[in-house]
Amino acid sequence: MVSLKSPREIDLMKDAGRIVALALREIKKAARPGVSTLHLDAVAERVIREEGAIPAFKGYRGFPANICVSVNEEVVHGIPGERVLCSGDIVSVDVGVKFKGYYGDGAITIPVGTINKERKELLDVAQDALKRAIEKARAGAKLKEVSAAIQDTAESHGFSVVRKYVGHGIGRKMHEEPQVPNFVDESFKLDLTLKPGMTLAIEPMVNVGTFDVKVKKNGWTVVTADGKPSAHFEHTIAVTEDGAEVLTSL
Ligand code: MG
Repeated sequence: MVSLKSPREIDLMKDAGRIVALALREIKKAARPGVSTLHLDAVAERVIREEGAIPAFKGYRGFPANICVSVNEEVVHGIPGERVLCSGDIVSVDVGVKFKGYYGDGAITIPVGTINKERKELLDVAQDALKRAIEKARAGAKLKEVSAAIQDTAESHGFSVVRKYVGHGIGRKMHEEPQVPNFVDESFKLDLTLKPGMTLAIEPMVNVGTFDVKVKKNGWTVVTADGKPSAHFEHTIAVTEDGAEVLTSL
């Protein structure tokens, strides 16, 4: 069952989303060569708590940190730690926030120092895939159009989209119906018609090489099977009569 949010609920989700965007903005400023991934976690926690919100990933199914930080070949769910960022790294940061009973979820991939041309293209394409997906997320459209926009954008540049992890509905819970895959596959309910009040976390995960991934021994960090880099961008959006409203923005 896909729940429809009232305008009041969407306003509350906008508050949560604004805090996500604020945290991501501060993390982006802090992500420089020589900085540890744990420092980025501390920046996120400070911003989120100063705003009176709760870092939603902490303790979620036992996740040990406030945010997910995934470097280079790490796709998602990386655990912040002592690792120090180097020029040339790309670092994906995923922030979830709970505020007044509602969730916001967003991610960006940040270039550290100077990155190579392939990584630059990867970031541009993954970000463009998200933008194109959001443009499709209007009332009356099928969910399939959102998924196809991401897959087509990534694959037309020779990149692949991760199959094993997908976007999701969001609201009073972090993960609600429907699943929002970044590719078209009959095992998902892609003929769902989008309606005003639906709130979705759209999150392309784009790989340079194979779409195959594996989970590291820590039980959390997802890496590409071939060790090639991956990028992740995410917004929480609300479907309106006129199109999609991005909630994770300032
Ligand atoms: Mg998400």
